[in-house]
Amino acid sequence: MPAAALSPEVLAKYEPVIGLEVHVQLLTATKAFCSCANRFGSAPNTNICPVCLGLPGALPVLNENAVEFAVRASLALHCEVRERSIFARKNYFYPDLPKGYQISQFDKPLAEHGWIEVPTADGGTKRIGITRLHMEEDAGKSLHDGFADSATRTYLDLNRCGTPLIEIVSEPDIRTPDEAFEYLTRLKEILLYTAVSDCNMEEGSLRCDANVSVRPRGQEKFGTKAEVKNVNSFKFIRAALEYEIERQVEVVEAGGRVEQETRLWNAHEGRTYSMRSKEQAHDYRYFPEPDLPPLVVSDEFIDGVRAELPELPEARRARYMRDYQLSAEQARDLTADRGLAEKFEAGIKEICDQKSSKDEDIGKFAKKYADIMLNEEVSRLKAHGLSIAQSPISAHGNVIAVNLSINQTTSSKQVKLIYDMSFAEGKDYEVIYEREKPQQITDTAALEKMIDEVIAANPKQLEQYRGGKKTVAGFFVGQVMRASKGQANPALLNELVTRKLDG
Ligand SMILES: [Zn+2]
Repeated sequence: MPAAALSPEVLAKYEPVIGLEVHVQLLTATKAFCSCANRFGSAPNTNICPVCLGLPGALPVLNENAVEFAVRASLALHCEVRERSIFARKNYFYPDLPKGYQISQFDKPLAEHGWIEVPTADGGTKRIGITRLHMEEDAGKSLHDGFADSATRTYLDLNRCGTPLIEIVSEPDIRTPDEAFEYLTRLKEILLYTAVSDCNMEEGSLRCDANVSVRPRGQEKFGTKAEVKNVNSFKFIRAALEYEIERQVEVVEAGGRVEQETRLWNAHEGRTYSMRSKEQAHDYRYFPEPDLPPLVVSDEFIDGVRAELPELPEARRARYMRDYQLSAEQARDLTADRGLAEKFEAGIKEICDQKSSKDEDIGKFAKKYADIMLNEEVSRLKAHGLSIAQSPISAHGNVIAVNLSINQTTSSKQVKLIYDMSFAEGKDYEVIYEREKPQQITDTAALEKMIDEVIAANPKQLEQYRGGKKTVAGFFVGQVMRASKGQANPALLNELVTRKLDG
């Protein structure tokens, strides 16, 4: 039953305990144990071979690239990488798993003891532990919909069989649905920065299961957990957790017992449904994979991967706030996407090269640059549904906009107009600027002539001003600005209007 009736007081008596299991497809060119293409969207059952189908006699060969990606993700998540990890067979039957088992890792996973830091509501940070990160392979896909005879048949697409995965299991350190949302957001950022996955949830590259239980506050022992599966966005995970916490509290409050089970999230109804009782590890009859030797990762290999790690979002955020005095919000927005952060830095580098100037100039430039990128470029990218790579504006184009804006050659209104035209026509800032050459009128004589004309045409307002109603000055400024088609330099115009009116 939807548990909308629970009061905040009842909910406050219980503490949720949440752990997350995230499966991530690695962006390798080929599959984990064979040379089939690892590609989404191919015609069904075209990227398959005896190895990924598990035909008798076929033998798996581990893809070194997959190991490299898994180690890279492990290091970025502060995990300790095990020198010698063991592949294991996880046995179960499912139509989309022709081998009858999945190659995974069990008691000796690739990496353990990592963490992710998440922001808390009070402005601090909290460390969420990562229990383990292990390598495994994906299964195929059952297609239940979209065919003429879907009512009576299920189709199988085995292209996904053998796609390399990492599974990242968190400690049960998460206490609220918001923390779960933050953890997933940070995790995805890190995986995107390290380029081990495209993390596309719609295509299933990143999938999340949540374990959730509730316990009376003050009690140490965990309650019985339910696993929520089939959630395909972070927002839905938060909603599913909120629903599930209320449901479990209601069960306990009514004197019942929470069942250990797997539940499915139904986004249309906004609730979870019981799917099956949860398997235990022993149900899978894990045993060491006899066709693969232990995976040995040398210190040298790990050091090589570590040396190539990019600067991660958290470190970059701190640096932007320290070196460029950006606000926490600006730093967060600029680092949310690695491409965006790199474009920002390309602009900073260009200005440093140009100016070889003092730190305070760089600071002033960086702040303006962040403003213009976020308010003009990024907001329009969002509105047009474009990625940073698809932007019509280059880093150099942004630099020009910032420079023209800092030395007041273009007004903020003109900047907005040029960005509008750039996006409408798909042309860079410089192209539009050179064509339009929006000029500011800074010629005192020309402005004075326009002011005189406006004053002569509005004797009533002049009388009001001279009678003491000083706010009427704004009326004259507006009239002259309109007459100049928005090109009058605002500071100069204000000064001249006041001088004329008082004169
Ligand atoms: Zn294959």
